[in-house]
Amino acid sequence: MSENLLHVVPTDPFWRPSADVADRAAAVVARLVAADSVVTVEFHRAAAFIHSGSNLERVECPHCGANLERWADLMPDDYDDGFDDLAVRLPCCGADTSLDTLRFDWPCAFGCIDIAARNPGRSWLTDDELATIGDALGHRVRQVMQHL
Ligand SMILES: [Zn+2]
Repeated sequence: MSENLLHVVPTDPFWRPSADVADRAAAVVARLVAADSVVTVEFHRAAAFIHSGSNLERVECPHCGANLERWADLMPDDYDDGFDDLAVRLPCCGADTSLDTLRFDWPCAFGCIDIAARNPGRSWLTDDELATIGDALGHRVRQVMQHL
């Protein structure tokens, strides 16, 4: 059975709030999704990859626009509930960047904390809704719509 998860992740992959603050932000998320959606908060040791699942169709270089078909090869192999270092040199144009700047379509994110709503019963959060969650968290957030 397939399911959808709406993830809310801080824009800074290494930023982390206290548990109390994260719970407060999760409560805001819970008000924005279906009443029967279960909202969870997960802390990761380092910057975990929050993947859009089967919604991920394409990954592009942020500098030259090349289609990075072998993007998975760029991931460091030291994954331990997250990556300590997202630095990468891109094979297309040699640019030195961070993995979280790659143009994932649909979007993915990296984060030490992940607020997730299972089967949210809605589509993307609006910019205003993201700002409201960001205010509760004390940090700007981005979203990942994951299909499993
Ligand atoms: Zn490039």
